[in-house]
Amino acid sequence: MSHEEFPTDNPAVVTCGLPYANGDLHIGHLRTYVGGDVLSRALETLGQQTAFVSGSDMHGTPIAVQAIEDGVDPEEFALEWHEQYEETFPKFDIDFDNYGHTHDDTNRELTYEIVERLEAEGYVEEQEIKVAWDPQEDQPLPDRYVEGTCPYCGADARGDECDEGCGRHLEPGEIEEPVSTISGNPAEYRERTHKFFRVSELTDYLSAFLDRLEGTSNARNQPRQWIEDGLQDWCITRDLDWGFDYPGDDGEDLVLYVWVDAPIEYVASTKQYTERVGADIYDWERAWKADEVGVEAAGPDSGEIIHIIGQDIIQHHTIFWPAMLHVAGYNEPRAVVASGFMNLDGDAFSTSRNRAIWAREFLDEGFHPDTLRYYLTTVGGFQDEIDFSWDRFAERVNGELVGNVGNFAYRSLLFAERNFGGTPDADVSEEVRERIEEAVDEFEAAVNDYSTRQATQAAVNLAAFGNEYIQRHEPWNLDDDEAAPVIRDCVQVAKAVAVLVYPATPDTAQRLWDQLGEDGSVADATLDAALEAPPSDFGEPTELFEKIEDERVEELNQKLEDRVEAVAEGDGGDAEDDGTETDEAAGSDEGSMDVEALAEERIGFDDFEELDIRVGRIESAEPIEDSDKLARLEVDIGLETRQVVAGIKQLHDLDELPGTKVVLLANMEKAELFGVESNGMVLAAGEQADLLTTHGDAEPGTKIR
Ligand SMILES: [Zn+2]
Repeated sequence: MSHEEFPTDNPAVVTCGLPYANGDLHIGHLRTYVGGDVLSRALETLGQQTAFVSGSDMHGTPIAVQAIEDGVDPEEFALEWHEQYEETFPKFDIDFDNYGHTHDDTNRELTYEIVERLEAEGYVEEQEIKVAWDPQEDQPLPDRYVEGTCPYCGADARGDECDEGCGRHLEPGEIEEPVSTISGNPAEYRERTHKFFRVSELTDYLSAFLDRLEGTSNARNQPRQWIEDGLQDWCITRDLDWGFDYPGDDGEDLVLYVWVDAPIEYVASTKQYTERVGADIYDWERAWKADEVGVEAAGPDSGEIIHIIGQDIIQHHTIFWPAMLHVAGYNEPRAVVASGFMNLDGDAFSTSRNRAIWAREFLDEGFHPDTLRYYLTTVGGFQDEIDFSWDRFAERVNGELVGNVGNFAYRSLLFAERNFGGTPDADVSEEVRERIEEAVDEFEAAVNDYSTRQATQAAVNLAAFGNEYIQRHEPWNLDDDEAAPVIRDCVQVAKAVAVLVYPATPDTAQRLWDQLGEDGSVADATLDAALEAPPSDFGEPTELFEKIEDERVEELNQKLEDRVEAVAEGDGGDAEDDGTETDEAAGSDEGSMDVEALAEERIGFDDFEELDIRVGRIESAEPIEDSDKLARLEVDIGLETRQVVAGIKQLHDLDELPGTKVVLLANMEKAELFGVESNGMVLAAGEQADLLTTHGDAEPGTKIR
């Protein structure tokens, strides 16, 4: 049974797998979010009504374990990361219509409704099972509280997932040779009563569902294998304090397993979107439960639910989740699009080794988000394993965005503006009309195939055609009458490129749109616009993309290498902190200085009063032998003389420092660096460590307020 082609009359919803709210995002994490955003924009370009939603996953042991490590409340811990994700995604133009989180009331209500429905339909039963237990801490060890060996493939595994081996979901009690991650001791198994969702009863339904399911082939093939091996019932409760309590009284101290309420957030987030914009703009119930009359009704043709996920969570999205939706009377997913892994320069990303390019860092380096979006979208197929390296990134940006798309748009529009003040008055040739139609067809077919790579390639190939076309006709050798139809063609191709490249590079497409003199937003343009004439007048264009120089690539490679080494040597500091900044300081040019944005959060005077800042005078300054950057200073602060370690060795002539008045934070926590105690912090400005001093003759010891 096949689905109707996009665009359909049903509202579509594109979701992205929820990120666990427990750490910084790196560019590898962004792959599925960029993928979801590009697909949802592309569907809208086809004229498909689409909501794009996701949210942060606040529950489960990944959060609880980390929060305990940091000594904070899990909710507070997760909310902080949630807020950071909420800020980060839009910076890459990943524009969710709603981005919620799993710990809010909307999700709680829907979760209870669905679980109660599973109970009412007779799909939940209790089972006595053995759960891992830490005898020393006398507490149960759900999921990531326990590690051991996968019973299926023998790889090292977490309590609920064979993350380094076969990728299977593991039920409580399955892991072999369990070890507590709390105490490091071997764990015992103890009998506990838990709730199970009888997924095994739904084998026939799930087999049929997989035959209807669209998306990437990995999302169908893996679950078919699992079904063939025989489905097990699924434990939906955990012995844990953090999460939603099991509904009703008989759950005792059990919470719902994180994978019950996590996908329900897709529904909750869509519902919140409707609550914000109104059901006349987007009706979440039509998307999720159009045919809601009972278990049998949810069928293949109702709702266009598309899940974009990483391949490590295929089982949750193709077995557990559709089973829950089916029993609860919701629509089933139309497609599951599962991305392959992403490596960094041939090796895995490693947050603990700081072997990553952080999302924030990518932008801080001054790169346009569209360049990363383009790279992630086109470097491989969505289910392929892909690799990021600065070299390959620069190669694609320079070759395809600068050299092809940017070059074509700029030369065409510049010629048009200089010679005709905009779009020349002529008809589009038959050849060019047909070529644009071909590109539009390719784009449409690619979106229906969930291939954002092919869809983007349709735009890039069209730009390549444009370059070839202008080269072939050499309008610069023609008089205006002869050049007009050629340039008219080129301007039309440029407009079509803007429409088709928009999903992958929305900001740049908008700039091209503006340069063509178009009003409004390219986001509102549908495929018809590709062949509609641009305005007759437009201004001088500017370059769309910036070339990445070889030296820049070398510098970025070096930076990554240094940082990984620093962590390996144990002096890398906090992985979230870019510890290599000062390495750059010596060589950085003074011309283009990046000024950090002002802090948004205000502090009270009381907070300021807590800082004991004093005038000091440097008595002596000497280098610390083993360190490249650090110097040991003796600073007289009136009441006493302080020994302070400062990262100024290469930035100042140490011999000239004695006698210099400085400003010192006196109640800074003491620290030890290269075996030298630092008792206070000398304040300095910027990467060159420009030392702060006083304008008048305030004596050492004077408090600054
Ligand atoms: Zn395994």
